Amino acid sequence: MNVPMLDLVAQYSTIKDDVLAAMMKVVETQQFIMGPAVPQLEAEIARLSHATHGIGCASGTDALLLPLKALNLKSGDEVITTPFTFFATAGTIHNAGGTPVFVDIQPDTFNIDPAAVKRAITPRTRAIMPVHLYGQMADMLELMQIGRARGVKVIEDAAQAIGARRKIDGEWRVAGELGWVTGYSFFPSKNLGAWGDGGMMVTSDDAAADRLKRLRLHGGAKQYHHDEVGTNSRLDTLQAAVLLAKVPYLAQWSAKRREHAAYYTKAFGDLLQVKPPVVDPANEHIFHQYTLRAERRDDLAAHLKKEGIGHAVYYPIPLHRQPCFADLGYKDGSLPHAEQASHEAISLPIYPELTRPQLDRVVDAIRGFYR
Ligand SMILES: *Cc1c(COP(=O)(O)O)cnc(C)c1O
Repeated sequence: MNVPMLDLVAQYSTIKDDVLAAMMKVVETQQFIMGPAVPQLEAEIARLSHATHGIGCASGTDALLLPLKALNLKSGDEVITTPFTFFATAGTIHNAGGTPVFVDIQPDTFNIDPAAVKRAITPRTRAIMPVHLYGQMADMLELMQIGRARGVKVIEDAAQAIGARRKIDGEWRVAGELGWVTGYSFFPSKNLGAWGDGGMMVTSDDAAADRLKRLRLHGGAKQYHHDEVGTNSRLDTLQAAVLLAKVPYLAQWSAKRREHAAYYTKAFGDLLQVKPPVVDPANEHIFHQYTLRAERRDDLAAHLKKEGIGHAVYYPIPLHRQPCFADLGYKDGSLPHAEQASHEAISLPIYPELTRPQLDRVVDAIRGFYR
């Protein structure tokens, strides 16, 4: 039995009728640009994020780029972020005119280390961009306190963490609630995936919301009046309709992912060569990825490939070691926790529709490798 890393066809068969009906409604009215599904989804995602505004855009990348643009970064302005993330996190900082400043991660959660953020603040720091990696929130309380003390905005990269929450002072706070602006991705493989590209920003800052709405529409609140230069980054109405039909399933999908994660973690309990993901006790993880640290990771990956077991390495090269950022001057060994994670991390299939026999097959293949 082969087990794919992700099986979107399995999900499709469970939601087909809902999604096709929602799409057909858009088709029948031919309102493809900013049709009613867009503001409906914006309201829904804002509500889910305990935020006032949702602003749809073309991708998760743009959902980070536009708030960075709204900071009006000047050459030399710095944005502190993690090197252990998808490229877009730092690529957007560069494309907004800023300089990414990479700091190390916490080895247990793989998330940005607030103490390292604090040490990296300079007079040129304009923002902190934590990533809620694999679906587990970063230490937002600490990060917000650092940001507030230094007058620096916090932009959450929640592309992998829609619906994730964290208990702070006895209260559940969700991804997208505390940061200045938060970016989500609806890339098809994300926990809430469209049938194409899509993204959304959420914020509770009214002025920021107005600015972001302008920036996604060529800088003009009123058609053919341009207060500044923006771009075309709308969320496609068909995609908004797909997502609206899928939102009601999100909580049960996340619960399934947590259930699978608990199953794996129990099954690997006595296996000394792998370390299951650590969930910070304050967090409710949504397991966008289930990521082990594994001895002889690359050999394990080759073994799983041979066995027909889906897996992926997120991320094999931390961003501070990417050739495009060579001129920033980070050396091998400069961010050791991120570098070690890039050598040890391996993600396993964790999509909601996985069956018990499939989970067992993954477990057996891994145990078999170390036997
Ligand atoms: C997917 C992802 C993005 C970018 O989203 P796109 O929709 O693919 O542009 C940004 N940051 C992280 C951490 C991601 O996982």
